[in-house]
Amino acid sequence: MPTITLIRGDGVGPELCTAAAAVVEAAGVDITWEEVVAGQEALEREGTPLPAQVLNSIQKNRVALKGPITTPIGSGFRSVNVALRRQLNLYVNLRPAISLAGISSPFKDIDLVVVRENTEDLYAGIEHKVGPDAAESIKIITRQASERVVKFAFEYALKHNRSKVTAVHKANILKLSDGLFLEAARQVANRYPQVEFEDRIVDNMAMQLVQKPQNYDVLVMPNLYGDILSDLCAGLIGGLGVAPGANIGEDIAVFEPVHGSAPKYAGQNRVNPTATILSAAMMLDYIGETSAAGKVRSATQAVIREGKTVTYDLGGQAGTSEMASAIIDHLKKL
Ligand code: NAD
Repeated sequence: MPTITLIRGDGVGPELCTAAAAVVEAAGVDITWEEVVAGQEALEREGTPLPAQVLNSIQKNRVALKGPITTPIGSGFRSVNVALRRQLNLYVNLRPAISLAGISSPFKDIDLVVVRENTEDLYAGIEHKVGPDAAESIKIITRQASERVVKFAFEYALKHNRSKVTAVHKANILKLSDGLFLEAARQVANRYPQVEFEDRIVDNMAMQLVQKPQNYDVLVMPNLYGDILSDLCAGLIGGLGVAPGANIGEDIAVFEPVHGSAPKYAGQNRVNPTATILSAAMMLDYIGETSAAGKVRSATQAVIREGKTVTYDLGGQAGTSEMASAIIDHLKKL
């Protein structure tokens, strides 16, 4: 029986994690959840938003399921999410955006995978004021981090029969930092002649993703562009409520939805559990429970296609727990 770290998170995180854990259990996978607390509650109780036992638990179990954690805007503590990714060296943020039948969207048959660099860029958190009226944030790009994330994108493409990798950058303006990312991407691409490679400037990429998303497949990019474009890709498939994700390092992974803690919906049993449930399905694949992962995806897809027990964002009136129960009912029939 695997032991997996569970971080319920803030805002809507706890209700979504309850839903996802119940779905995993109904899929027949017996998991011992080791719960740890991070974020505001940890700050109040232990004086730090990221206590050592959170990192220790993930390092020991090698796998975690995580709800979103609120980051105070402007001031206050720095992002626990960013700290977790950096401290555990979870260098890839993998965010598939795949259309689900039954979701009404002007965009059809979307099948994209965003591979976001997860440890550096402007998220390195190196900022300072220059006098009272100016501030600087430093963008870090290294060859090593760029190469390993691009290599991941190509390996992912090979493993999942995907034909093209597109590197996204702003190397026309950021000639040194994004220039280095692009140079590293081109060098790695040379080692994978069987996979097509191209690059796009990020602003053009944003437009192309809206106008011709079918022309793209696996997208790899530095941290900030990945943060922004993965929300754009979530928009293409029906919104943040259905977009799963994973933070992956060497032999360690933390699974969490793309979306944040949606504080205005906290505790209301309103938001869509799909993104967290599909993140849990990615987790099941990762731990080798591929049959259970497939069942979770089929049951989730069935409930969405049926459209009777879905949350507000998909045009329905069901709550988080009702939608999760409908998925569990479907699972029992598989
Ligand atoms: P958000 O993703 O929390 O929510 C934006 C909007 O998207 C919501 O108001 C809601 O309309 C919709 N939405 C999000 N999740 C949904 C769901 N499951 N079902 C239906 N609709 C959903 O973004 P935000 O409001 O910009 O951020 C809120 C907080 O979350 C901030 O503190 C931010 O730092 C944090 N955040 C955390 C993570 C993380 O933990 N990985 C990621 C992003 C943002």
